Amino acid sequence: MADLKVDLTAPNGKKITLPTGLFINNEFVKGNGGTITSINPTDESEIATVQAASADDIDTAVKAARKALNEPSWRDLPPTDRGIIMYKFAELLEANKETLATLETWDNGKPYSVSLNEDLAEVVGTIRYYAGWADKLHGQTIPTTPGMKFAYTLKQPIGVCGQIIPWNYPLAMAAWKLGPALACGNTVVLKPAEQTPLSILFAAQFIAEAGFPPGVINIVNGYGKEAGHALASHLDIDKVAFTGSTTTGKQIMKTASINMKNITLETGGKSPLLVFDDADLDQATKWAHIGIMSNQGQICTATSRILVQDTILDKFLEQFKEVIKSTSKVGDPFAEDTFQGPQVTKQQYERVLSYIEAGKSEGATLATGGVPNKNVGDGKGFFIEPTVFTNVTEQMKVYQEEVFGPFCVVTTFKDEAEAIRMANNTTYGLGSAVFTTNLDRAHRVAERIEAGMVWINSSQDSDFRVPFGGVKQSGIGRELGEAGLAAYSQTKAVHVNLGLKL
Ligand code: ADP
Repeated sequence: MADLKVDLTAPNGKKITLPTGLFINNEFVKGNGGTITSINPTDESEIATVQAASADDIDTAVKAARKALNEPSWRDLPPTDRGIIMYKFAELLEANKETLATLETWDNGKPYSVSLNEDLAEVVGTIRYYAGWADKLHGQTIPTTPGMKFAYTLKQPIGVCGQIIPWNYPLAMAAWKLGPALACGNTVVLKPAEQTPLSILFAAQFIAEAGFPPGVINIVNGYGKEAGHALASHLDIDKVAFTGSTTTGKQIMKTASINMKNITLETGGKSPLLVFDDADLDQATKWAHIGIMSNQGQICTATSRILVQDTILDKFLEQFKEVIKSTSKVGDPFAEDTFQGPQVTKQQYERVLSYIEAGKSEGATLATGGVPNKNVGDGKGFFIEPTVFTNVTEQMKVYQEEVFGPFCVVTTFKDEAEAIRMANNTTYGLGSAVFTTNLDRAHRVAERIEAGMVWINSSQDSDFRVPFGGVKQSGIGRELGEAGLAAYSQTKAVHVNLGLKL
């Protein structure tokens, strides 16, 4: 439909023609679930209004994906050809990375340099990495009764996959899910978050151009309660992959049980960062800062609980506050020297402010920050000063609950045993960091910590070659790396009788 696009001029001057429809069967079409208006979190202005999917639209997309799986079959395309199409897709995304990064910064609020140099590099790298896997997936032969019987296994796609994406890394989270799904021969209905619908829509234009047959990838913007729920409950969807809050993850798990869908969940975290007295304090404070303040603190793996050995607390705090002061420039995400942009939405902004109030009323000490940043955006926009609370106890809400903002707590431990106990005193288990120069201790702690990922003398490393995921209430399954393929393939055993006669 010719009218399903809008001409925009971004704050950085970029002219963009943005498709606004649902992308089903390689076409942009109108949705029946109302519209979504994307808001610029920097100045609260409206950016664009796009179509939203109803449950019926989701059904249409699922039918398209089912058809594409089987006739003509995406799964039966020679795997090398699947890889070639994926490489082409990555190339088109790379060629348009400035526009994609602009859209992402515009509706998400993250610094443009991060969108362009980190997120888009990850998006392109992830699709390429999995394109390379497409023709390297195969089963095994297993000798059972020599001369008479043997068995072999087939690696097969799971089928039609529903993928539900969060707003903190819109394109990267889509790439994490699309890459392995497509390499394994699945077809996809992907729902971006309603807060950040723009960049994935722009990327959808390149799906047909890359050579994906109609229906292989369908992008349907929509609201969680309607479109998201319709995906999780659809009887012809074989798998649902979700990244988002733990509350919604639990809801989806329940909903997906309707036809016992295969599930991958990547949910919340309250990741610890341990600093032992033998750590390089200069490095520890800089990484602690990256660990919680980057991406406006809106990272599920953010190391939001900083546990410092009691003998070095004062020194740590003094240096940590200095790093925040000298590095954390809050402001316009399109400005070159900005480290931290606005929170993604008013709702998230208010959520962080409510935790600041909770910290104060629980009796913790506000060491720095704690206020909305009034010096940017004429008082408009969802900016918050980087905030640190000290004198925190393990019972406090601010120690236990995920805030998802530029907000951390700092507390102390006496020795290694207490550090591990305190680190594990959480319902979550996503990331964790340990700072020490003692090699034995580093690996001992890494082994004992209840988390899907451990960073030794670092924080927030993520690489498409390395598995990512959580334990406890931080999720089920792994994304990225070779492990990510397991989430999108299933093993069939074939027993062959060569000569055993009855
Ligand atoms: P947040 O609370 O930070 O907005 P959510 O976990 O609710 O995060 O949202 C992450 C993704 O899950 C979004 O794409 C959202 O639309 C979707 N979603 C929200 N609620 C549901 C639901 N009940 N069923 C399926 N998807 C949902």
